Amino acid sequence: MRFSDITGHEAVKNQLKALADTDRIPHALLLQGKQGTGKFALARALAQYIHCENRSGGDSCGTCPSCIQHQSFNHIDTFYSFPVIKKKGSTRPPVSDDYSEEWHEFLKEDPYMDPSNWTRALGNPSTQVSMYVTESDDLLHKLSFTSHYSRYKIVLMWLPEKMNEQCANKMLKLIEEPMEDSLFIITSDNPGEILPTIYSRCQRIEVNRLADEDIARFLTENFSTDRQEALSVAHNAEGSVTEAVRQLSVADESRLFFAKFVELMRLAYQRKIVDLRKWSLDISDMSREQQLSFLRYCTRLMRENFIYNLHDTRLNYMNGEESEFSKRFSPFINERNVVQLVNTFDGAIADIAGNTNSKIVFFDVAIRVILLLKS
Ligand SMILES: [Zn+2]
Repeated sequence: MRFSDITGHEAVKNQLKALADTDRIPHALLLQGKQGTGKFALARALAQYIHCENRSGGDSCGTCPSCIQHQSFNHIDTFYSFPVIKKKGSTRPPVSDDYSEEWHEFLKEDPYMDPSNWTRALGNPSTQVSMYVTESDDLLHKLSFTSHYSRYKIVLMWLPEKMNEQCANKMLKLIEEPMEDSLFIITSDNPGEILPTIYSRCQRIEVNRLADEDIARFLTENFSTDRQEALSVAHNAEGSVTEAVRQLSVADESRLFFAKFVELMRLAYQRKIVDLRKWSLDISDMSREQQLSFLRYCTRLMRENFIYNLHDTRLNYMNGEESEFSKRFSPFINERNVVQLVNTFDGAIADIAGNTNSKIVFFDVAIRVILLLKS
C-alpha cells in the first residue's frame, strides 16, 4: 500500500511521512477516528514507507524488494495483529497467524476494513471477535526472539479495543517497555474502549472523516454508480466509505428486487411459462439469504399495492419507481387474491429457509401468481 493509493487525508499523510523522514516515529502510534475512513490503509502505507529502500516523491517506491514484500503481505519484519474467533475443536486460544490467509484476502477485498466483512470472512458472522492472551505472547516472541533484517520490526495492529483483559495487560508490558527496534502502528474505531493505560502510552493522531467528494470519487471508480447517486450516498454516509458502500449495495439490491418483481408480474399476467421458468432459475442463482430478502420484498410490495388500490396513500411506503409501477399494477391486487398472494410468498420463505430446492420453490411461486392474478 502506497500513500498515493489512499483517497484523501493529505494532512495526515504529510504528518506521517514527516515522522518517518525526520526519524521521530513514536514507539506506539495510534491512528484513531470513525470506522471506514481508511486508517488501516494509512498504517500499512506508513509501514511500507518506513521499510522502503528507495523512498521518492514523498512515497514508498512500490518496486524495491521491501515494498514488494509489503504489497504481498509477507514482509519479514512486519507483523499483523487483529481480533479473531476461536477455532472449533481447539483448546488453545487463537492468534492472528491462525487466520493469515483470510486476513490477506480481507485486506485485498476491503481496504476500508468493515468489521462485519471480517467476521463474515472468519466464517461466523454472529460471533464476537477478540484478541486473546496468546496473541500478546506470540508478539512478545516475534519481537524479542527473532532476528530482523530491516531497522525496525513493525506491528500493524487493528482494533486494540477488542483485546480481552489478560491480553491487554500483557500487551501493556510490550508497549510500556519498548524494545529499541520495534514499532507499534495501531488503528482504532473506538479508542474509548482501549485499556486506558495502553491508550495513554500511544502517541495519537486523529484521522478525520473523508470529504463527500472523496467518497463519491471512490464509489464511481469502484462501483457502477453515476456521480449524482455517488454524491448523495456519500453525503448520507457521513465520511465513512464502509457506510457508503453498505448504502450503495442496499440501493443496488432493491433495484434488482424491483426489476425481478415487475418481471414476475408481467410474465405471469401474460402466462409466459417458458420465460417464467427462466425467471425462477435466475432467482435460484442468488444466495439463499438474498432469495429470502427477495421474497420478503415481494410480500411487502403485495401489501403496498393492495393498500395503494384502496387509495389511501398515507399508508404507503414506496419509492418513486415502485409507486409509478403501482399506478397500473395495483388494480390486479384485490380482496379476492391478496391474502393468497401474500401466503404464497410467505410459504416460499418457509420452504427456502427449510432448504427446499429453490428452483422448484420459485417456479411454483410463478405458477401460483399466474392463477391468482386472474382471480
Ligand atoms: Zn520501496
